[in-house]
Amino acid sequence: MINKEFIDAVSGEFTKILTDEPMSLHTSFRIGGNADCFCEVRNIGALTDVVEACVRYELPYFIIGQGSNLLVSDDGYRGVVIKLDGEFDEIEKTDDNTIRCGAGATLAAACLFAKNNSLGGMEFAWGIPGSVGGAVYMNAGAYGGEIKDIVRSVRYLDGSTIKEISGKDLAFSYRHSFFSDKKLVILDALIELYPKNKNEIFFLMQDTMEKRKKKQPLNRPSAGSVFKRPEGYYAAALIEQCGLKGVSVGDAQVSEKHSGFIVNNGKASAAQVKELIGMVQSVVREKTGVELECEIKYIG
Ligand SMILES: Cc1cc2nc3c(=O)[nH]c(=O)nc-3n(C[C@H](O)[C@H](O)[C@H](O)COP(=O)(O)OP(=O)(O)OC[C@H]3O[C@@H](n4cnc5c(N)ncnc54)[C@H](O)[C@@H]3O)c2cc1C
Repeated sequence: MINKEFIDAVSGEFTKILTDEPMSLHTSFRIGGNADCFCEVRNIGALTDVVEACVRYELPYFIIGQGSNLLVSDDGYRGVVIKLDGEFDEIEKTDDNTIRCGAGATLAAACLFAKNNSLGGMEFAWGIPGSVGGAVYMNAGAYGGEIKDIVRSVRYLDGSTIKEISGKDLAFSYRHSFFSDKKLVILDALIELYPKNKNEIFFLMQDTMEKRKKKQPLNRPSAGSVFKRPEGYYAAALIEQCGLKGVSVGDAQVSEKHSGFIVNNGKASAAQVKELIGMVQSVVREKTGVELECEIKYIG
């Protein structure tokens, strides 16, 4: 339980504390019950204070990026959700070809910064919702590119110690990184790009966005592709082949536009999305023998 001592310990100029905060306000699915406490931290000191206080008061905590890959329980989260803000949103050019991106910065801001500085290599990420921290954690990727291709190093918080790890040691694989399932906080990432004509970058970004708009149900809340790509198959094709396109449980529906997405048609609950996921997994398993593994993270 969140108590007054915890609130006192984390209160400060660089921390915004919200109690009983609806997680539906912080997820792209627009689903999720209340978190006991939601802390927005604006610098490393504030972050360290919150993490230390969570450990001291034995409170579970969870780092949220832009909430674009999450399904949060209807019962919410019994603990502290920590969001990086303020200084963590900063992006700067560190030398000719590298930019340092705070983990709280959006991938969109990083892509625009790279383009404005005539640096190519991250056009693939244009249109992937989320933060730089979330993208590193997930090894986000699209259209032939992945975060692993451009990350030179990452700084992170381990307890109260700031550490740095190089890109080659980040154990990146498909939607997985060194950070997966660890209690570490990504602080920032050094991204290595290369000089490129600004217009060429712009056209490639536009092209990527057009492809997304054509294929993805961007007009409905979702968390993107629900399932990982199974070896040798495409999740969406398998789901469609099994006749599950458009199937729904309450307001949760397998998208008519992209069967790999589940969309929230209004008032979908996490329970409905979970039921639909289970249904899709079991029908696909039965009819094709392929096991669909969830890409989205369930919280709570
Ligand atoms: C319409 C749509 C399209 C999408 N398209 C793609 C796509 O093309 N490719 C793709 O890969 N993904 C895609 N996604 C999924 C999602 O955008 C990515 O997984 C994204 O990288 C998640 O970032 P986030 O900041 O929203 O992370 P969140 O969803 O908030 O969190 C994801 C995980 O990262 C962890 N995390 C976040 N920040 C930190 C941090 N600073 N330190 C430690 N851990 C952290 C969280 O604890 C959680 O475990 C899409 C989603 C939507 C809604």
